[in-house]
Amino acid sequence: MYLQDKNSVMTISSSGDQQKTEKTNFQLLLIDNLKREIESARKLDSEKLTLEIGKIGFSCLHCGKCCRQAFGDNRVMLIPLEIEKIREFTGLSKLELAGPYVPEPHPETSQHDEPEEEGRTEDNIHVFGWALRRKTNGDCIFYEKSTCRCRIYPVRPMLCKTYPFYLEELKLCTCECEGLGNPISPEDSRKLAEKLLRRYVSELEDVLAVYENYVDFRRG
Ligand code: SF4
Repeated sequence: MYLQDKNSVMTISSSGDQQKTEKTNFQLLLIDNLKREIESARKLDSEKLTLEIGKIGFSCLHCGKCCRQAFGDNRVMLIPLEIEKIREFTGLSKLELAGPYVPEPHPETSQHDEPEEEGRTEDNIHVFGWALRRKTNGDCIFYEKSTCRCRIYPVRPMLCKTYPFYLEELKLCTCECEGLGNPISPEDSRKLAEKLLRRYVSELEDVLAVYENYVDFRRG
């Protein structure tokens, strides 16, 4: 259902002027739903999650497939804190390490074999999220081919720390990974469960911040 009615919200801009922004009822509904999901996510039982992870089992084989586009969707979304940590660790600028998160082209509708240029900045665009940059072959820019290792391992994003697990609609889900099904210790399951919960709440809070601060503008 698309709701046309609008509610005016007055905010104060950085210059101190009053700036009028409007949120549709649909936006307000999304914000409300997100707040409720965050509340429920905070109440998720980490013990239960630990047991679920233990039952599935996981041990990384260090094959590097999750870092490479040839083996599937390897986009890594980032929250601002993660960009900052990687920036400090590598000395790269924000725009050198991260670009706008763009939808993966659909294989049947895509006209080109080459990956789309990421992070086009010559025009005004809305950015609803940021992702780690990838090389022209689609691999993560921090993936080291000769060793299959990550060059920013100590500060790698939460998504990579918790791969191949993720939480969606309060449920544990998994991505494709050959390491799944291998034994995992209760201690490692617990650590993974805690990281997954932190990641879930942080990502939801990031989306909420985008919805709450969204202000439309005219292209160009
Ligand atoms: S997480 Fe899975 S896909 Fe990624 S390196 Fe480990 S085993 Fe390979």
